[in-house]
Amino acid sequence: MKKDLLTVVVPCYNEQESISYFYEEIIKIAEQMKNVNFEFLFVNDGSKDQTLKMIKDFSQKDKRVRYISFSRNFGKEAAMYAGLEYAKGDYVTIMDADLQDPPALLIEMYNTIINEGYDMVGTRRVTRKGEPPIRSFFARCFYKLINRMSKVEMVDGARDYRLMKRQVVDAILSLKEYNRYSKGLFSFVGFDTKWIEYENVKRVAGETKWSFWKLFLYALDGITAFSTVPLILAGIIGIVFCLISFVAIIAIIIKTLTVGDPTVGWPSLVCIIFFVSGVQLFCIGIMGQYLSKAYLETKHRPIYIIKETEES
Ligand code: UDP
Ligand code: MG
Repeated sequence: MKKDLLTVVVPCYNEQESISYFYEEIIKIAEQMKNVNFEFLFVNDGSKDQTLKMIKDFSQKDKRVRYISFSRNFGKEAAMYAGLEYAKGDYVTIMDADLQDPPALLIEMYNTIINEGYDMVGTRRVTRKGEPPIRSFFARCFYKLINRMSKVEMVDGARDYRLMKRQVVDAILSLKEYNRYSKGLFSFVGFDTKWIEYENVKRVAGETKWSFWKLFLYALDGITAFSTVPLILAGIIGIVFCLISFVAIIAIIIKTLTVGDPTVGWPSLVCIIFFVSGVQLFCIGIMGQYLSKAYLETKHRPIYIIKETEES
């Protein structure tokens, strides 16, 4: 019987410190999984260090190693998309190069798909140990918020590390949007998914590429990509303010007719003007977010640009 091919997609951005550890680990796992053939697809996301050179070394020694190298840094979302496009496997998994996605779980994930009939197995970290507490706090708030606002379920702690059948990969690839938010896209396509839970693992080496600010912007991307509730909210705020002003006008008319009109209330008026114009700007800002996303989508720019692959 022909063996299945399993592609491991590895997005790498400045990972010279950790990539050799990763390669060592993953080939150990590949040795244990004798019933599948492996393909390791490294996506070099415009690294400025020795990452590409190291990947090339792997691919010279090991025929299973393929790579794609971008013309500049396009971000992890773009790297994952490119990886899925180039993957030839019947099954595809995405793994970080820093060993924060334990390769050993792959065995269990593969067996789950084969024996239990799932289409996709995702991983979820149940702790955020080793992460700044403030970041964990905001992450938790974000998941609560987005799950209230979006019909697509976002699982708290879900990683991009998952094993998918070819059918799921093709479904993901059919979503060609420019503003990609994978956590949402993976739930959007559906299919039977099983979650495997594990404790957070620290990076083997090197540093995280995500600052708090980057994560904040990424969270906003997630909201605009999967919910239009903020737009509705802006409308509702507008209606509430109209109602308040209507009641205030009536109150003032009655007051003028009954006790005359002593001219007071300038300080409160200034406060009201500030407050209302603040709310207006806030609502315009919300609209601006959606408009800017729509603007970028209509340009149909490529999600990534390749400079070289192992074939060139
Ligand atoms: N990564 C990437 N492009 C980027 C940023 C990150 O391909 O612009 C890769 C990175 O090399 C790693 C994975 O995405 O393999 C996760 O990045 P990181 O470990 O910095 O994120 P964290 O685990 O801290 O969320
Ligand atoms: Mg990491």
